[in-house]
Amino acid sequence: MKKSITIIGGSVAGLTSALILASAKGENLDFDITIIDEGKGDLRAAAIYNAPMFPQGALANDIYAQIKSQIDSLIKVRYISGKAESVSGSKGGFVTKGAGFDEVKSDYVIFATGAGAFDIKGFEEFVRPHTLIPRPNKVRLEWSGRQELKPGAYVAGIASGVTSMVTTAMGSASEAACAILSDIAGTVAYHHDTPTSRK
Ligand SMILES: Cc1cc2nc3c(=O)[nH]c(=O)nc-3n(C[C@H](O)[C@H](O)[C@H](O)COP(=O)(O)OP(=O)(O)OC[C@H]3O[C@@H](n4cnc5c(N)ncnc54)[C@H](O)[C@@H]3O)c2cc1C
Repeated sequence: MKKSITIIGGSVAGLTSALILASAKGENLDFDITIIDEGKGDLRAAAIYNAPMFPQGALANDIYAQIKSQIDSLIKVRYISGKAESVSGSKGGFVTKGAGFDEVKSDYVIFATGAGAFDIKGFEEFVRPHTLIPRPNKVRLEWSGRQELKPGAYVAGIASGVTSMVTTAMGSASEAACAILSDIAGTVAYHHDTPTSRK
């Protein structure tokens, strides 16, 4: 079974969701993952000293390169540089359109769009003030269940309303990916490895 996932936002949250999904690829499950990113992540302004296992003072480009290399070792992801402008359709048949790229069809969508302005048509109704980032115009998306906006559409990272930390963004992104794995499996699902499972 092959499932297609569009991830909007390719900073630390979007890439983490992709990595979790890629790690679950197996004999009976495969993914067609597209990441659309405008390249304006908050992470670009940061130097990270407080995320476990990260090199001290890690910068965005190095963090992106490291996660992408981990993803690349598991699955081939399509990276699109651009702004997603609308998402229409429903689970199993989402269509993402934007400037400078052809429409992308997918079974699932993850919004890992950060806490800046959110103007993606089709999902504006979910926008709320981001109460844990006490600065003007910071937003989150209102979700229920397991970070689900509506069936098949999930939110990840600080767009989900978590405190603005790399570690919380990654945790939220992992949860969104596992929610999709569970939806596909029809039961609680996640992927675990052991020291010998990939040898
Ligand atoms: C100055 C500063 C210092 C910080 N220091 C630390 C620190 O020391 N430690 C720490 O843990 N955290 C720190 N942070 C917070 C950290 O950077 C964020 O918590 C983290 O980047 C959130 O990750 P994210 O992927 O959820 O969102 P972001 O990193 O904001 O990424 C969101 C991505 O989505 C893209 N996007 C949005 N809309 C669209 C669209 N329509 N189409 C395509 N792409 C889209 C954006 O361009 C962006 O690339 C700092 C933040 C700032 C601003």
